[in-house]
Amino acid sequence: MPDNIKKIALLTSGGDASGMNAAIRATTRYAKYKSLEIIGFLDGFKGLINNNFIDLSSENVGGIIDRGGTILYTARSEEFKTEEGMQKAIANLKKNKIDGLIVIGGDGSFRGVHDLHIRGVKAVGIPGTIDNDIAGTDYSIGFDTALNVIISLISKIRDTAFSHDRLFVIEVMGRNSGMIAVHAGLAGAADYILIPEVQVDLVKIATKIKNHRPGKRHTLIVVAEGAAKASDVAASIKLLVGHEVRVSVLGYIQRGGSPSALDRLLSAEFSKKAVDLLLEGKSDYMTAIQGKEIVAVPLDYVLNNKKIVKKSIYELAHILS
Ligand code: ATP
Repeated sequence: MPDNIKKIALLTSGGDASGMNAAIRATTRYAKYKSLEIIGFLDGFKGLINNNFIDLSSENVGGIIDRGGTILYTARSEEFKTEEGMQKAIANLKKNKIDGLIVIGGDGSFRGVHDLHIRGVKAVGIPGTIDNDIAGTDYSIGFDTALNVIISLISKIRDTAFSHDRLFVIEVMGRNSGMIAVHAGLAGAADYILIPEVQVDLVKIATKIKNHRPGKRHTLIVVAEGAAKASDVAASIKLLVGHEVRVSVLGYIQRGGSPSALDRLLSAEFSKKAVDLLLEGKSDYMTAIQGKEIVAVPLDYVLNNKKIVKKSIYELAHILS
């Protein structure tokens, strides 16, 4: 262990994701195991700029593994994107004698990590976003929990759709990526999935719905918020099919809840990896899972590549519908 790493800091940034608390717990306890001091800045990069932090100890991260959200809170900070804001953040890291910073967040947050790195701060990222839209890792913390929440909601909607012979349009999160919609659609047995990456052809969908299997009593259309508004899709389908269409916008319910086993396991392994990277003197990396391996991916790769929804999964969901 290099002598220069004695004290590290942690923060959560961007949208909250279930499992962030499990990662705060794991990072703190593993840091303590490695005899490091650790503090947690509150409200993401905003807390770093305002020098707003708490001491983290094995004791005060107890009892949070099963809680959604983040006890360090999260925020978006425009000031951090300015040179002045960044310099304030760097001054506070120096003032608190921080030798390394760990940021749990999405790709926006990692741009911040990279900006700090090029100004001499040792910093690494842990992927934590329900969108799972970060290049270089198969999973980000929060995605699996969100999927589980969504498929349980889809099941509830299916019960009523079946009973009343109804068409339902279900809007899920995903402003720029269809990752959530495709995986929730496949796992939740949706009939059609609309994602930003694929041109929406409502006439084709309406024709298929009209000719759907005899005896089929429900049709579920999952739409990513970035593809179209559920209410617009419903209005068009109603016009084309001539059948009552109901809308359900799942909204913020998708973010909350106790993390799944997978998200807790990822949190533990990513946290260990992030602390180890700092101890090895590494910076400008993101922890990742590729296949079954926990690896470190350079942020240069993460920030310059786009994660693409697998076409085969999108197609399979429609084959099975
Ligand atoms: P999610 O996608 O889950 O919301 P995210 O990390 O991508 O997570 P963003 O809102 O994009 O969320 O970014 C979070 C914060 O990271 C921003 O509020 C800002 O403080 C910082 N950030 C974003 N982009 C940059 C950038 N280009 N340079 C420096 N900092 C940035």
